[in-house]
Order: sequence, then C-alpha cells, then structure tokens
Amino acid sequence: MEILDLGSIDRHFIRAVEEESGQDVSHCYQCGNCTAGCPLSFAYDIPVHQIMRLIQLGQKEKVLRSHAIWLCATCETCTTRCPCEVDVARVMDTLRIMARREGTVSEEGVRRFYDTFLDSVKRHGRLYEVGLLMRYNLLSGRPFADADLGPKVLGKGKLHFLPENIKGVEAIKGIFDRFAKKRGA
Ligand code: SF4
Ligand code: SF4
Repeated sequence: MEILDLGSIDRHFIRAVEEESGQDVSHCYQCGNCTAGCPLSFAYDIPVHQIMRLIQLGQKEKVLRSHAIWLCATCETCTTRCPCEVDVARVMDTLRIMARREGTVSEEGVRRFYDTFLDSVKRHGRLYEVGLLMRYNLLSGRPFADADLGPKVLGKGKLHFLPENIKGVEAIKGIFDRFAKKRGA
C-alpha cells in the first residue's frame, strides 16, 4: 500500500477545487456509489470515488494528470447517486478547466475535440458537423479518417455540406469574446 507523504498535501488545491466547483469535497465519505454507476469506469485510470479521495488529500498532480477527468462524459449519474449531494460531475468539469490552465491535459484528442466543437458554435451559432469533422481530422493529423462514411451520411441528408448560420450569430460571438476577455483579465 502506498503511504501518503503529508508534505504532498496541497491545501491550496483542495480550496481551489471547492471554490471553483462550489462543492464541499469533505462531504464525500467514499461510499463508492458514484463509481458503481459511472458508465465510463471501465476506461478510467482512476475511478471517480478515488478522484474525490485524492482531492481530499490534496494530490493535485495525480488528479490533474489523470485520464479519467477527460474520459468523463458529464452524464451526471455520479451527481444523481451521491448520498451527500456532492455534484461530482461539476467537480470533474472543474478539474478539466484546472488541468487546461495548468497545462497538464492528458488526453489531447479530447481537448482538441472540445475546442473544435466550440469554435464551430462560435462561427455559426450552432454546430456545423462537416466542418467540425474536417477541422478535427486536420488538427489530429488524420485528414482522411472516416472519409468513407461521408458520402453515405450526406446522401441520407443527415448532414449539410455547407454551414448554416443561425440568426444573431454575432450575439453568440459576443458571448465568446466576453468570456475570452474575462479570462484574460
Ligand atoms: S459524470 Fe463522468 S464521472 Fe460522473 S458518472 Fe458520468 S461519466 Fe462517470
Ligand atoms: S457517491 Fe458521493 S459520497 Fe459516495 S464516493 Fe461518490 S462522491 Fe463520495
């Protein structure tokens, strides 16, 4: 069993997670309900109840470098099942934000997908699926990945080849700009 070095407890990290998520992580008593219901547990390197424990122990590096926080699908099953009413999904979301800030993202592909998705919404006010796929593939260095599926899906009218902007797309851009300004402030 790994012995915890008390000097490795980062209390500032515990406080920061609590402040940014609005959750009191000390309420978690390790019942394991969140992990039992999590549909992505099979893929996690650290189960979600252990993520909660590691936060309580101030293990910033282990938490922010984990793959689990990026594989989380924000389905909120953990939040719904927690007997202590901890919004665990919100904590996971907060950890992703912190990992980006700290430059410790362990799943670059997931981060790239989020960024590409949001860029599409900023440009068009909605998701432009074909543009997202092409851009994501290009940024991933796999420009022709899944290209064989394109004609089939387009032929069924499931996707539009050209983007369709919503009315008021400028207002959507404004939201992104205000966020970027606030973050830079
Ligand atoms: S929100 Fe994330 S951690 Fe919680 S149950 Fe869903 S996938 Fe698992
Ligand atoms: S369900 Fe809630 S109390 Fe139980 S381990 Fe998960 S976070 Fe902790």
